[in-house]
Amino acid sequence: MNELDIQSIVSKVICEISETTKSSQKKPACDSKVGGSLPVITVGKGVFENMEDAIAAAKEAQRKLRMMPNEFREQIITRIREKIRENVDTLAKMGVEETGMGRVGHKVLKHQLVADKTPGTACISPEVFTGDQGLTLIERGPWGVVGAVTPSTNPSETILCNAIGMIASGNTVVFNPHPGAANTSNYAVQLVNEAAIECGAFLNLAVSVRQPTLESGNLMFKHPDTVLLVATGGPGIVKVILSSGKRGIAAGAGNPPVFVDETANIVKAAEDIINGATFDNNLPCIAEKEVVVVDQVADKLISEMIHNNDCYFLSNDLVDQLTKEVLIENNGHLVVNRKWVGKDADKILEAINIKAGENIRCIIFEGSKDHPLIVEELMMPILGIVRVRDVDEGIAVSVELEGGNRHSAHMHSMNIENLTKFARAIDTAIFVKNAPSYAGIGFGGEGFTTFTIASKTGEGLTNANTFTKARRCVMSEFLYIR
Ligand code: NAD
Repeated sequence: MNELDIQSIVSKVICEISETTKSSQKKPACDSKVGGSLPVITVGKGVFENMEDAIAAAKEAQRKLRMMPNEFREQIITRIREKIRENVDTLAKMGVEETGMGRVGHKVLKHQLVADKTPGTACISPEVFTGDQGLTLIERGPWGVVGAVTPSTNPSETILCNAIGMIASGNTVVFNPHPGAANTSNYAVQLVNEAAIECGAFLNLAVSVRQPTLESGNLMFKHPDTVLLVATGGPGIVKVILSSGKRGIAAGAGNPPVFVDETANIVKAAEDIINGATFDNNLPCIAEKEVVVVDQVADKLISEMIHNNDCYFLSNDLVDQLTKEVLIENNGHLVVNRKWVGKDADKILEAINIKAGENIRCIIFEGSKDHPLIVEELMMPILGIVRVRDVDEGIAVSVELEGGNRHSAHMHSMNIENLTKFARAIDTAIFVKNAPSYAGIGFGGEGFTTFTIASKTGEGLTNANTFTKARRCVMSEFLYIR
């Protein structure tokens, strides 16, 4: 089934979008309305009042989980997948309502992706050596209790994706979710535990605290019973994890450039870039955050974005106004104004007195490679476009803008030499060619999905295998059958 099929089915069945226009058939469904009463989570089903109790419960649950056959873990994971599908609408609405960021229709798709493409036990891969001296196995086993920190941008998506991978590998997990997304995150924690109980297992495979804080996070990082730490978030949390003295998997920030050379299919490039950059209002860390384009095709690309992809082109004087609105001074530096993260493009335009209408999906402008709106990871539907002379300059500028995060980069080109040159130069965990950025996490692209891309510590796209440790088991002389 291709991406368009998935989108149209999800649009029909879940989002109940009845009106289909030419462009809405091409792009992911994007209803952003929140309505009805949504659950408020209190303690129970894996959610604890304090972190000490949560860790103790996860430790006890892990002791039992270790003894479970893989088949039983798979049954629980299958039920988690079903529970996600049953709750996509609620999860998506809770995420938007609680954080004020993103789009309900796109969050529905993200949860569907987690349910469909997060690997379970099958991806855990032992190694074998056989020879004259016998047989040696490298078995992958659990660490024990994982301490995990999750972001506000994909809150329940990350909890559910992490939980599937961590349970598959025989770990239990203690979450300290982003305080701004605690309710949504804890709803996801409860779904995991409901799934376990419904399969005849026990509670606390995934646990959390009702009101996560920096203190509860610090307690979790330092606790002797959390042996593996996994952080999904920005630079602050990555630093904390990497200086914890424990094994840490750090999925940090990105500022993914998308580079378009003169050989690209420009009509497709414009459509793919805007679809990727506007997905959940640019919240995903993999999303196109700025465009670098060879001068020869720049005008055509911009024109396609404006006329066929619902973009609003901002003139230079208005770019200054936009900069003042979405960036603020902090200790002499310009930083992102959180008020506008994940907001709709038309609302951002209204803040600078432009009424462009709800159909506007993305704000675009031309700027230099050192413009703060291009350098900063905005996580808003705003795309700066940098014009370059040729491929070599484009590669150099894109590498500079990626900022050494080694996270994600994308390219539109029909020249295999250019694609290879850029991929080698930028050296990112994800490199998508001729598709929207989300193809890199398995949406309209091959491969499994994850919402934890360990760019900083090098594991790349995480899955159950990432959350295991290796044990060598040696049988001397025997079991090598000649
Ligand atoms: P954030 O960094 O503000 O928060 C992430 C988590 O870290 C939260 O749970 C927060 O409470 C915690 N945290 C932050 N600083 C901390 C500290 N000093 N001590 C203890 N806990 C701390 O991130 P966010 O705004 O929720 O998410 C957006 C950021 O995360 C972006 O930079 C984005 O690129 C990145 N991100 C990366 C990935 C990935 O897979 N690499 C995925 C999603 C988001």
